[in-house]
Amino acid sequence: MLDKHQGARLANLWDDGKAAGMTEPEKLLYRSNLLGSDKRITNYGGGNTSAKVMEKDPLTGEIVEVLWVKGSGGDVGTIKMDGFSTLYMDKLRALKGIYRGVEFEDEMVGYLPHCTFNLNPRAASIDTPLHAYVPKPHVDHMHPDAIIAIAASKNSRELTSKIFGDEIGWLPWKRPGYELGLWLEKFCQENPDARGVVLESHGLFTWGDTAKEAYETTIEIINRAIAWFETENTGPAFGGRSKPVLAAADRAAIAKKLMPVIRGLISAGESKVGHFDDSQAVLDFVTSTSLEPLAALGTSCPDHFLRTKIRPLVVDFDPAQPDVGNTLAGLPEAIATYRADYAAYYERCKRADSPAMRDPNAVVYLVPGVGMITFAKDKATARISAEFYVNAINVMRGASGVSTYVGLPEQEAFDIEYWLLEEAKLQRMPKPKSLAGRIALVTGGAGGIGKATANRLMQEGACVVLADIDETALEAAQTELSTRYGKDFVRSVNMNVTSEAAVESGFGDALLAFGGLDILVSNAGLATSAAVEDTTLALWNKNMDILATGYFLVSREAFRIFRNQKAGGNVVFVASKNGLAASPGASAYCTAKAAEIHLARCLALEGASAQIRVNVVNPDAVLRGSKIWTGEWKEQRAAAYKMDVDELEAHYRERSMLKLSVFPEDIAEAIYFLASDMSAKSTGNIVNVDAGNAPSFTR
Ligand SMILES: [Zn+2]
Repeated sequence: MLDKHQGARLANLWDDGKAAGMTEPEKLLYRSNLLGSDKRITNYGGGNTSAKVMEKDPLTGEIVEVLWVKGSGGDVGTIKMDGFSTLYMDKLRALKGIYRGVEFEDEMVGYLPHCTFNLNPRAASIDTPLHAYVPKPHVDHMHPDAIIAIAASKNSRELTSKIFGDEIGWLPWKRPGYELGLWLEKFCQENPDARGVVLESHGLFTWGDTAKEAYETTIEIINRAIAWFETENTGPAFGGRSKPVLAAADRAAIAKKLMPVIRGLISAGESKVGHFDDSQAVLDFVTSTSLEPLAALGTSCPDHFLRTKIRPLVVDFDPAQPDVGNTLAGLPEAIATYRADYAAYYERCKRADSPAMRDPNAVVYLVPGVGMITFAKDKATARISAEFYVNAINVMRGASGVSTYVGLPEQEAFDIEYWLLEEAKLQRMPKPKSLAGRIALVTGGAGGIGKATANRLMQEGACVVLADIDETALEAAQTELSTRYGKDFVRSVNMNVTSEAAVESGFGDALLAFGGLDILVSNAGLATSAAVEDTTLALWNKNMDILATGYFLVSREAFRIFRNQKAGGNVVFVASKNGLAASPGASAYCTAKAAEIHLARCLALEGASAQIRVNVVNPDAVLRGSKIWTGEWKEQRAAAYKMDVDELEAHYRERSMLKLSVFPEDIAEAIYFLASDMSAKSTGNIVNVDAGNAPSFTR
């Protein structure tokens, strides 16, 4: 019934062969990774696992009981051994003696470091007391969609007992913290035979005497919930469909139009990156009769709304009579209204010591008949926010199908969102990099200068779309960069810059991948050499097509996006020393490069009023890693200077004023400077990166 795995039960993946010979901490790691591998069991970063293990105290040599529990900020699916914090159980128990009551529960977090075993630097999470005080050796806390659907139903207590009898208990909503740990302990003492407990509006706790038993209980209990929904939740999802679903290509086309405009409207404080999701679970929701009322109720599980804000923005779009122009025109007001509502929520709920209001913009944008758009400070966060809202959709689907769905009370939601401990976590986050949230497209992105540029921009936190016509090199470059910086940060598009249609569709793919564009690096090129009397019209046109026309086409597309997005823009042309200084036997190339430079000046003039900056980097003789220099151009240049190809690099170095070779990384550094805010007040400029060449001094 839930998600795309409709009807499928969770498989028991425990392998005795694999677990044999593992230590208890290793079995905990094994169990955690198994549980976290399926989003139906727990959402990304959600839930935690623990084991109480007898170990030798490094100080006294005595055997003591140690709690191994997922540390702060980890994810059970990808956690490694160093992701667990370790704490003395006797010290954790001793904390009860200094606990001053629920109104002081937050101060208990400060005592957790005092309980650290074996100098483990991994910080203990807020959920540590929940695991410590359950008097069982192995404890799982998960956020399964099927269980939260029960936990977020109006009659969740009744449903829990109907489905699980006495095996699984129920506790009313309580913010995770020290007090909830004591509640869990009390529950276990009063119900010694229970195998777990449902926490209202939150999730599931289960336990066992061995790691395997805990794992199998967790799987079994979630499967029972899934099975129960299969038989009970048989009506149409969300009360039935009231709006048509558009065809996939139309959905993508609408998303490409909406995303940059939304992005421009919400990126004033910090640049944001977008994500588009039109999976079946989302489409079921955004075409249903219950879309508006359910969306307005907000999400339930604390994890969900911390990632997605308390509620989404439903975009005014009618898939039965699609008029995207009308929708775009209404967006500024819709977004302003959302911000005002959020500010009002903050004012209603704030306490004397609440942190200042955070970004009031929506994270989730639901578009009827089209799908879901999310925006966050980086791509991974935007994607994960979308995953969380899919979890929330699954929960609403289950709860509203068998009962009445209830969101968390507003004040409770606020107290978690603006929890001082949560704020402290945010304050500890490293300062964002200089290009965080920026989106760049680099043509010729698979080659020497292009790839070095992508690398430099990604080093500073940018998302990059590599555009190239060389499919094999493109794939290799994407693999290399995603291995280094993470898959979320890089995409590639096959783009022939001389084709109007290919340029338009490549930029469209970029918009769909990241939601907008801030930086265009126009770099795709070639070089040819021939005396003018031997220059064929075809050769002349080829240079003009790729260098002059190609630069024009990609710039025009970028300008169109920048103007829609209304957040400025940045264009960097990779031209050449030869655009300023004549070179023997290369009139077609030199003339086309000069055209690029003058095009940049014209665009700088046109773009300035919209805060679009256009600048030029002029490299010279960048041989290393260049695809241009691998072909006959190298031989032709060598011939023109009457020397061997191997002598070229030394020749260019000796020819330069500084007697230095120029590398792709040197060009990338200048591009980064011009693409970043460091050069915020420069436009129409040329930076030569040629180790010094007097004929190409600008004037
Ligand atoms: Zn939880």
